[in-house]
Amino acid sequence: MKKTCMLMAVGLLVLLISGCMGMKEQSEGNQQVVKEEKGPLQTKDIQQKEAAVKETQNWIEEKEPVELPILMYHSISSGNSLRVPKSEFAAHMKWLKDNDYVTLSPEEAYRVFTTNMKPSEKSVLITFDDGYTDNYTKAFPILKQYGMKATIFMIKQSIGRPNHLTDEQMDDMMSHGISIESHTIHHLELNRLSKKQQEEELKGSKIFFDQRFSQRTRMVSYPVGRYNEDTLKLAKEAGYQMAVTTEPGQAKKEQGMMSLHRVRISPGLSPESFGRLVEGK
Ligand SMILES: [Zn+2]
Repeated sequence: MKKTCMLMAVGLLVLLISGCMGMKEQSEGNQQVVKEEKGPLQTKDIQQKEAAVKETQNWIEEKEPVELPILMYHSISSGNSLRVPKSEFAAHMKWLKDNDYVTLSPEEAYRVFTTNMKPSEKSVLITFDDGYTDNYTKAFPILKQYGMKATIFMIKQSIGRPNHLTDEQMDDMMSHGISIESHTIHHLELNRLSKKQQEEELKGSKIFFDQRFSQRTRMVSYPVGRYNEDTLKLAKEAGYQMAVTTEPGQAKKEQGMMSLHRVRISPGLSPESFGRLVEGK
């Protein structure tokens, strides 16, 4: 009888201890979740760094300073010198595909400039300013069909406004390789603003897009391509890694990472003349 009691007591003890351990494991598990919730950006940064090392393994080191064509589109429609019709846009993308061009994300473009390496001799960054609805209805189906990446510079106050992208459209595109970066809050010509107003436009939009998309917003496109010395400093201080202007030509690091040039794509180009622009000829 005594023996049975002893055995039962020992059994209970074992049960209790294992129960406690289980609880401990559980609570540690909970703590870990809390920790991750506190620092998602940190975890993301580490993951990105690891991805960067992996990604550049097969990149090609350039002997000369790299030149990267950053294509500038606006609306995919017709009517003025900034609008490119859908049929022409489709022909441009086909030319890029037929000529083995690799389309880059902003993150990859930054890596190109900072490492002087390219994933392919033929690399390109496709950008759209202003975030028109037709970027979603006309350009996106073509980009998706070819599996191409592109970047849209969105104006914060235009989200959901007539003829501009909605939240749902941006989310849909982002899940298919399209990046949304900043075209400031109000699309004002930055060189006409006070330093404080410029800061609000640049930093305010960066904070907004960072939070809206849980991302590190890397690029800003200056509205109407206007900027001054203050803009360059403030854009960097706001935390952007790159800024683009409307100055024509291939982008090079020596232009300054806060004032990279772009290749303007106008309507009426044949695929061949489009090709010469991309190649910088
Ligand atoms: Zn614009």
